[in-house]
Amino acid sequence: MKAFWVIFLWIFLGGQSQAFTILIDPGHGGEDDGARARYYYGKKKWRLVREKDIALSLSKKIHEELTKSNFNAYLTRSVDRSVSLAERAELAEKIKADLFISVHINSSEGKTPRGFETYYLDNHEDSAVKKVEQVENKDLKGKELIVNKILTDLVIQRTVKSSKGLATNIHSRIQRLVGKRYRLKDRGVKPGLFYVLALTKRPAILLEVGFLSNSRELKKILDQKFQRRYAQAVARGISDYIKKQSKQEPALL
Ligand SMILES: [Zn+2]
Repeated sequence: MKAFWVIFLWIFLGGQSQAFTILIDPGHGGEDDGARARYYYGKKKWRLVREKDIALSLSKKIHEELTKSNFNAYLTRSVDRSVSLAERAELAEKIKADLFISVHINSSEGKTPRGFETYYLDNHEDSAVKKVEQVENKDLKGKELIVNKILTDLVIQRTVKSSKGLATNIHSRIQRLVGKRYRLKDRGVKPGLFYVLALTKRPAILLEVGFLSNSRELKKILDQKFQRRYAQAVARGISDYIKKQSKQEPALL
């Protein structure tokens, strides 16, 4: 009889993770390269690397890891094409995504800044974060989007607790599985006003994987093993978050 319940619960709880739909959003694409940098692989040999390509490569791996874990996972783009921020949000609505994960790679004017950070949608007065927002809030034509402030505040009110929880769980898995091994600087979990997150109107986070303007960090980020581990960390972080949610809110079961 005991075995029956164990099997029953296993199927029942397993079914819950299957019911979750996650939309992975590779930042930029098409005419929007995002950040760019030279990657030196010899003394005078270099090639141009673009944020949009690295974000796509990482997102595809996250998609694979989530699919392996029986989630319904989708990508906002699976090739190099232009997608507006509004289109990304519309897709989240169309597929009824439970969670939205936007993947980006940071860049700075100086060569020394390094490390990974995880953002959730919330108001703040941090000027360093505002610089990152300026870059990520630009739409296809390079213009910063104008988003209804009242609407954004309503979305924040409704999603901030979940988004912060999701960000914390994913960030701590990245720290444990990738950060330590690759000696990445932990820049923390931060509030940010990213319009793509506001427009999706659901628990959502934005990952800044590292800095492509830092040559040592860029080398790590381009490494396929690094990308695979990073993707596994994100998938595990999502599972952690869902497990905790299920415990906190029995109504979900
Ligand atoms: Zn970006």
